[in-house]
Amino acid sequence: MNACQYVMNPGTFSYPSAVVFPRANSIWPFSINKKNTEMKTKFLFGVGIMSLALHAGAQQKMDPKETEVWSPEPKIVTPGATFADAPSDAIILFDGKNLDEWSLTDDVTKPAGWTLNGDGSMTVKKGTGTIQTKRNFMDYQLHIEYKIPSNITGSGQARGNSGIFLASAGKGDDGYELQVLDNYNNKTYVNGQVGSMYKQSIPLENACKKPGEWQTYDVIWTAPRFNDDGSVKSAARVTAFHNGVLVQNNYELKGNTPYIGKPVYKKHGPSPIKLQDHGDPSEPISYRNIWLREL
Ligand code: MG
Repeated sequence: MNACQYVMNPGTFSYPSAVVFPRANSIWPFSINKKNTEMKTKFLFGVGIMSLALHAGAQQKMDPKETEVWSPEPKIVTPGATFADAPSDAIILFDGKNLDEWSLTDDVTKPAGWTLNGDGSMTVKKGTGTIQTKRNFMDYQLHIEYKIPSNITGSGQARGNSGIFLASAGKGDDGYELQVLDNYNNKTYVNGQVGSMYKQSIPLENACKKPGEWQTYDVIWTAPRFNDDGSVKSAARVTAFHNGVLVQNNYELKGNTPYIGKPVYKKHGPSPIKLQDHGDPSEPISYRNIWLREL
């Protein structure tokens, strides 16, 4: 029995003398005057204290086991030596040995044409085209590293521009681009700088390292879901850390990330991840250590 039941059951409870019962023609169940208002306040305060005491008693009587959950057990994953190293359940998309997991976006029958460097990295081969994973993904955790060359030139968007399309929505640049750009002392429109979801979401911080240094992205991607009629069931969401700094915090995308025009959603399922070969003439950037955990 709780405090409310005491109030509702006159047989087990003596009403304080201050309580005035409703009058036949009154909307409010108490007489409206100062004295009765004070009494009512005291009465309700008393009821509140009783309620808290009874609730605390009920909590103490619970067995701790009643709130323990023992299954399903999380699977065991062996972490990497550092946060940058792939855990045991990761899909290795690029470890420097070959480009077997990648193909040319605009003709997936052709291999990715970028340059393997022999030091665990690959470099964009400008003009050969954007590349994409051969596998398709829905939700995932992604780790990827990139380096702007120390001899980078250019300014604005024409300085180390590339990008990670977290899901492709078609050929070329169609998809959802997490921007890669050199914004170390290089200004551009803020919804197009590194860490942005291109032309949609300004990064929370500018966490750029200097050109010549390896930089990291760690991304949590939730793919969009679509209804049978093509309408959006649930929007895509992204959380991203740039060099360990949060730059996108569970951002809900409005659609794809076009260079010109507004974002739109077009129905798709599991999708490749793309790395952009951008058309600007600045020196090409490099990527390494790309792995992913499906969620
Ligand atoms: Mg780009």
